[in-house]
Amino acid sequence: MTYSFTQISQYLRCPRQYRYRYLDGWREKEDRASMIFGRCFENALAAYFRRKDPTAAFFKEWKQHEDLLLAYTKNDSWDRLNHQGIHLLERFALDDRVQIRSPKQNLQVKLTHSLPSGGDFVSYVDAIGEVDGTKCIIDWKTTTSRYPEQPAGLLALDPQLVCYSWMAGISEVALVVFIRKNAPEVQYLKTSIDENKRREFGQLVETTVDQIEAGHFLPHSGIRFPQNGCVSCCHLGLCLGDQQLVDSRLIRRPGASDLDWLDELVD
Ligand code: SF4
Repeated sequence: MTYSFTQISQYLRCPRQYRYRYLDGWREKEDRASMIFGRCFENALAAYFRRKDPTAAFFKEWKQHEDLLLAYTKNDSWDRLNHQGIHLLERFALDDRVQIRSPKQNLQVKLTHSLPSGGDFVSYVDAIGEVDGTKCIIDWKTTTSRYPEQPAGLLALDPQLVCYSWMAGISEVALVVFIRKNAPEVQYLKTSIDENKRREFGQLVETTVDQIEAGHFLPHSGIRFPQNGCVSCCHLGLCLGDQQLVDSRLIRRPGASDLDWLDELVD
């Protein structure tokens, strides 16, 4: 078996959700405009570090989705996202705070870790480079709102950054957040992950994999005010036996679970 951060975090959120997704093959439809925008944008960032025109790269790829029936959130449209993408790329280039040497090797870096159970854990790190002159692991995020910065130290609890630090054995990590709003903004958030947190994450992965391989998939429903984990879960229709909801949000691709680590490329 090949495991990824996405798999482990989904199991920890709700084991039943994990079973629907990875054993039964139910996947969320990939028609969310924000997700496709994020992919186009990250490819434009790669063009930027390869010294090509990032806005041209972004427009060329995003243009291919102009006439498709994508799911846009309120106030969003193809045109609006197009302008936001271009302004964010311009802002990022003006800031000039991130350097990636040898982009061929240091963008979408594949990391593999052998597990005691015999499987592998695979991650694709967005980049390894420098932010404000400090060498670190870099994760790009596109979003519509700022990431919280208080209380101090919050970022060191981000499980995805802890995972990447554990995989790469690099303590310095950074989140570069591209905020889609009228005045484009880029946040450069940096933190250190200590050895203890990395070791604990490794233990969490091992115990979670043991649970998965023992076939424990009881639901962890999240309906209790003010939490609403089930309401935002794409598998809600399966748990409620609501076929209309299933049809609107899911497609089924049995047998796709062994290729799941590819999700890391777009996560
Ligand atoms: S709807 Fe709730 S219980 Fe069902 S899979 Fe999703 S999170 Fe789990």
